[in-house]
Amino acid sequence: MGQIKVMDEVLANKIAAGEVIEKLMNVVKELTENSLDAESTEIKVDLIDSGLKLIKVSDNGKGMSKEDAVLAFSRHATSKCKNLNDLFNINSLGFRGEAIPSIASISKMRLKTSDGKEGTIVEIEGGKNLEVTNSDLQKGTIIEVKDIFYNTPVRLKYIKNLYRELASIVEYIEKMSLAHPDVKFVLTNNDKELLNTEGKRRLLKVIYEIYGKNIASKMIEFTGENDDYYISGYLSYPECYRSNRNSITIIVNGRIIKNNEIIKSIVETYHTYIHQGKYPVVVINIDVDPILVDCNVHPTKMDIKFSKMETLKELISKVFSEKLKKVVFIPNAVVRDSFALEEVELNEEKEVKKETNNINIEENIIDLSKEEVIKDSDEEYKKVELKQLELVETAKDSPYKIKKMIPRGIIYKTYIIAENVDGMYIIDQHAAQERANYEKILDKLLSDKIETIPLLIPLKLEYPKNEFIILQNKLDILKELGFAVEEFGTNTIVVREHPIALVREDHEKEDISKIFDLLINEKSFDKAKFIDHAAATTACRMSIKANDYITLEEAEFVLDELRKCKQPFNCPHGRPTIIKYTKYELEKMFKRVLD
Ligand code: ZN
Ligand code: ZN
Repeated sequence: MGQIKVMDEVLANKIAAGEVIEKLMNVVKELTENSLDAESTEIKVDLIDSGLKLIKVSDNGKGMSKEDAVLAFSRHATSKCKNLNDLFNINSLGFRGEAIPSIASISKMRLKTSDGKEGTIVEIEGGKNLEVTNSDLQKGTIIEVKDIFYNTPVRLKYIKNLYRELASIVEYIEKMSLAHPDVKFVLTNNDKELLNTEGKRRLLKVIYEIYGKNIASKMIEFTGENDDYYISGYLSYPECYRSNRNSITIIVNGRIIKNNEIIKSIVETYHTYIHQGKYPVVVINIDVDPILVDCNVHPTKMDIKFSKMETLKELISKVFSEKLKKVVFIPNAVVRDSFALEEVELNEEKEVKKETNNINIEENIIDLSKEEVIKDSDEEYKKVELKQLELVETAKDSPYKIKKMIPRGIIYKTYIIAENVDGMYIIDQHAAQERANYEKILDKLLSDKIETIPLLIPLKLEYPKNEFIILQNKLDILKELGFAVEEFGTNTIVVREHPIALVREDHEKEDISKIFDLLINEKSFDKAKFIDHAAATTACRMSIKANDYITLEEAEFVLDELRKCKQPFNCPHGRPTIIKYTKYELEKMFKRVLD
């Protein structure tokens, strides 16, 4: 028998359990993964009507012998996993040998393949009447899947929205090309080219082809390792965010996975740089000994489990925060940054309309959620590469320090206008003071000895039963933060002492209840996060508000405090604190200088 071994029954059943073709994307995924396993360097996916009429995958891989080609259509045959242990080993991409027979049973399929010695065509309809003939193909494999679900109309109705189907196929192939920059991927739908990568091992070039020039020029390369993991890839500047977590591509040993914990730890490192609900653009390759990975989760979910998740999260957070610290600058007001950002946002919201096919499908809107890709000119890309170098250079002399700023006035009772030798600044008075207060409070709360003060009259706070129970279970955290608290009766908490950092004089009741409410409402309970929230909330309450009148002296004090911050450019909620116009930019705007 050739490369394909008939699997034993146990394994077959195990796989069969997860073997459901829910989406057209699952078919594309199976076929392209087979092509990758066959060591192809070029994979072309052609669709008609988002794949419903035809999915055709052509590759230049090693192909199959006649024997293997026929065997591929029998149930439980696979070249990829020979025993149960292989299931957990993701050195090999696919692990569902049932894919081809399953797809064959619900479509009209044609396999044309050649291993360089003999060419074979296998044709099969609804999984029956297998026909084998000779083909003239020299090397590689072409698989055509026609009229999927033609014999199972019940399943056809699950394919509700062809544009959603297409969007997830596009997303999948995009991620495949990010995972395999050494492979050329071409994707078409109804003869329209949707993606065409070069396959020359340049990951940044693939990012450029998928996300466009603006984002590619704002990507930072990273690598890092610890005893268990090696990570590498690109992460975006905080100003290049998107509203969708699909912009984070996670690749483990060459395979695309989805994992909420990893996404969460990435998003967390961007916290205070990016608004909540926004996501950076990230491509992360994780190399790990397959022993540490368990991929026996539902195959279509693409999720896996890591046995040493904590060390992976630590590594990501360390590498990412170091990179981000180096590149966070004051947002410049002029063309460069703010406009680029607007453009990205606009494109994100933009719904790309596609002409409807003759099939009757309700919706005709697709959000491919990417910028209009600039048609491949290597020249344009070279500019991106140059810009990257520039960015790396500027990043070297960071962390950025703002020189002493002199306030010149306050507009709309909210924005301080200031200057120094570097340029002119507009500062949000609330956001700026909030940042300074936040850093101070956090310092105090994280110090070894938290300063506390007793209340003259102990404070009694009453709560409804459900909230009381939550507090009851979290009293330890309050104690650690410097609150002297105890339960009283069945619904009351008595506070005798409180930390100075979190409570304003004469506002004890208001501030303490606010912190307790925060604790009650904290969903996923993480102590560090709670401390962070408490500090941000308190800072917000303590700071001058927009529309508060302040003098220029007070403004100067706000500016000095801001300058001293470790990360002065955003408030703890991620909004910018300061916008800068360099002198040069002003002169350019007034045409005193030419570019
Ligand atoms: Zn605030
Ligand atoms: Zn804020």
